[in-house]
Amino acid sequence: MKQQGLIVKSHGRRFIVESQGHTYDCTTRGKRVDYACGDIVDILVQNREQAVIERVHERQSLLYRQDDWKTKLIAANVTRILFVIAAVPTPSEELLNRCLLAAEAYDIDPVIVVNKTDLPETGALLERLAPYAGLGYRIVTVSAKADIAAIRPLLAGETSVLVGQSGMGKSTLTNAILPHAEARVGDISEALDSGRHTTTHATLYHLDGDSRLIDSPGLQAFGLNHLKVPELPHYFPELRPLIGKCRFHNCAHLQEPGCAVKQAAADGAILPFRFDFLQRLSRELGNA
Ligand code: GDP
Ligand code: ZN
Repeated sequence: MKQQGLIVKSHGRRFIVESQGHTYDCTTRGKRVDYACGDIVDILVQNREQAVIERVHERQSLLYRQDDWKTKLIAANVTRILFVIAAVPTPSEELLNRCLLAAEAYDIDPVIVVNKTDLPETGALLERLAPYAGLGYRIVTVSAKADIAAIRPLLAGETSVLVGQSGMGKSTLTNAILPHAEARVGDISEALDSGRHTTTHATLYHLDGDSRLIDSPGLQAFGLNHLKVPELPHYFPELRPLIGKCRFHNCAHLQEPGCAVKQAAADGAILPFRFDFLQRLSRELGNA
């Protein structure tokens, strides 16, 4: 019997698929592993517990991580990326910029979630983040331990993921968001986890209504290698007005004469960190 389902758990080559009120432990044809948590798939049901994934439906978005040149799919059809950042431990502005870029490239709405607002150092962090609000990015403040009210409206009707450096409070936030104790993060040592922690796993949790949250440790490091240098300005809100203005259509915004981006940086129209970031990324992708 063929039917449609949703991948709610991925672990190496095994997938748990929810379909018509049942969950099936699924294998794939030809040992394919290019499916992800959040994928809509067609399955061939074998018995009450088992099925085979036959085909994946077209994806709205796809997040993956780059691992020793191997690409691993982590989450599909995500519509909201919440970048979690806090004053302690020292946050990486580079990671923030990479996250914003990945979100832009997938056309996903990113929100910067400042956690641990109970810490006195939060004021300085908010000042540091002010330029990102200037670029149009939304910033919300929460304390995973006390009050996460600001996060709820962001989750409504979306398939969300929390990303960010370790120690910023993603697990604490996830546990505060999930309504049922049994669904808590850390409970991954079920049937699927055979004691091998090297495999990237992900779990999709249903929240109220049609809201979903995908949790995966792999989302701390996501791959950008699929991006093309000439496309980069599309993913920087402040560079979009300059698209097509460089002398060369394939300008990498490094040493080229007549570079409109370099000119804008010299005029102070682009923040120094953002310009550095663009140039670094341009080199990195150019060499990849
Ligand atoms: P993760 O690595 O991003 O999943 O971070 P964790 O959720 O493990 O949190 C890292 C540390 O920050 C833990 O010691 C948490 O108790 C602490 N933490 C999380 N949220 C808050 C918060 O809102 N305020 C404070 N003061 N500490 C927090
Ligand atoms: Zn240029």
